[in-house]
This record gives sequence, C-alpha cells and structure tokens, in this order.
Amino acid sequence: SVPLSYFGGIGAASRSGVLIKGSNYLEALNQVKTVAFDKTGTLTRGEFAVVNVAPVRLSKPALIKLAATAEVASPHPIAKSIVAMAGLSTDNQSAAEELVGLGVKATQDGQPLYVGNAKLMRQVGVMTDLPEGTTGTMVYVALAGQYQGAIEVADAIKENTVPALRALKQDGVKHTVMLTGDNRQVGQAVGQQIGIDAVKTELLPQDKVAEMGALKAQLGSKEKLAFVGDGLNDTPVLASADVGIAMGALGSDAAIESADVVLMNDDPLAIPRTIAIAKRTKQIVW
Ligand code: ADP
Ligand code: MG
Repeated sequence: SVPLSYFGGIGAASRSGVLIKGSNYLEALNQVKTVAFDKTGTLTRGEFAVVNVAPVRLSKPALIKLAATAEVASPHPIAKSIVAMAGLSTDNQSAAEELVGLGVKATQDGQPLYVGNAKLMRQVGVMTDLPEGTTGTMVYVALAGQYQGAIEVADAIKENTVPALRALKQDGVKHTVMLTGDNRQVGQAVGQQIGIDAVKTELLPQDKVAEMGALKAQLGSKEKLAFVGDGLNDTPVLASADVGIAMGALGSDAAIESADVVLMNDDPLAIPRTIAIAKRTKQIVW
C-alpha cells in the first residue's frame, strides 16, 4: 500500500504546478543523482532571434522568405523566428516534412528545398564550405541542391538556469549533463556559461537515448537518472529516464503522455523545488 503522506507530497507538488504521476516517482526523485537536460526551451528560453542573414545571391529578405516557406509548418522555435521575420502567417501552410534534429524539407517549383543544420546539408549532398556562426545557430538553405545562404539565429539562457543547477547540487545531485541536437560550438558555449558538468552535442533523438543508457550505466544500484526536456522531439528520451520530466509541457500532448513528472511552467527552479518536495515527503513517511 502507498503511505498516505505520499498523497500529501503529490498534492503539495500539484499546488505548485508540478504533476507527479505516481508515488513511485516521488521515491525515485529522492534518489536522482544525475540530471540530463535538453538545451533548447529547457536551459535556454527557446525564443530565437535572427541575428545575421548571409545569402549567396538572393537578397536578404528573399532568403528569409525562401526559408520561411519551408519553416511555416514546423513547430520548432527556430522555425518560428524565421517565419516571424518573413512576416508569414501560419495560414501559409506548406507541405513540409520535419527532419527531427536536422531541419525541414519542402518543395519549391518542383525542386527540393532544405532548411537546417550542417549535418542536414551534408546528408543531402550540399558540399559547399558552410560559413560558421559567431554566437548563434546557423540555419542553412539549399534549393535544388544549390546552397543559397545562411541565417544565424540566437537564443538566450533562462535567468533561473544557473540558480537551478546550483540548487540541484545542494539537493544531492552529483552530475548534470546537457544533451543537445545543436552544434558543438553553441552547445559548448552555453554549457560553459551555465556551468553544467558535461555537454554532448549534435545528437539526434536516438543518440540522446543512447547517451541516457551510458549515463545510467555509471550509476549505482539505488541511484536514479532524470531527464528534463520541453517535449519537442524528446519523447523517447523522456521515456528512457528513470524520471522523465517534461517542462512547460502545456503545448505538447506527447510529452505529457511520456513524462513521469510534468512541470506546468518553464522555470528551471521548478526542478529543484520538485526534488525538495519529494525529500520532505520522504521525511514524513519514515
Ligand atoms: P535541441 O536538442 O537543442 O532541443 P533539436 O533536436 O530540436 O535541438 O534540434 C537540433 C538542431 O537541428 C537545431 O539546433 C537546428 O540546427 C536543427 N533544426 C531542427 N529543427 C529545425 C528547423 N525546423 N529549422 C532549422 N533547423 C532545425
Ligand atoms: Mg528540443
């Protein structure tokens, strides 16, 4: 049977905007020693601004417009920034295909239009020397196999990310890790700024699941691994954690479904707060 105070713990959590899907996760939260995080929308705001536009021969507005016609159907925060800059409305739906961890594919005048990262460009045979970003993430555009230019977009670190990482360490978490699909440069820069213990970059969702397996293998028998993500494309990773924590998940049904803990807002401090509630609950139980 479940100790009554566990219901108290789940109730206390729900009053602070945290949904815990069972008393077993309260128990597991007590034993979390490693916390892995998605970057975009979790540690960073997930609100990109276009910081540079570098076309090959189109005008800058024409490059933005071209990219936006492919991005308009994408839920990715990078897509939203480009679509907003182009002034396109989401009524301008195109038949684009989401290439998770890479970008999008659309068709323009019967020709393939790819918009995404360097990995995507290599995959589709665009072998041009791609320019690198200064601070942001580079979004490359290729039409009919021809490189058209790059759009640099930048995100900002959430104001409570550093305090949250610090609080987790005080709560007994030993290891913090960022798992991101973004490139090495951006991932390392963000990791350094926030002081996270380890950074793994250029990961597709299945690579993130593999990294979770490796992290789990380093833990002792009673130690648990948590993953925190905003849910976008990360449902398999959430499911692979001992405690999958979906953040700001009001937008994603799939994330709410596969998470064990759902944080109703996107404040990183909600993570140590949840662990603190689990600890208090345990003290009452014993
Ligand atoms: P994260 O792991 O940081 O949440 P994602 O897995 O969502 O990142 O995406 C990884 C990378 O794939 C992004 O940094 C970006 O380079 C590229 N990407 C994904 N979706 C898009 C998109 N719609 N438009 C452009 N680039 C994209
Ligand atoms: Mg993500």
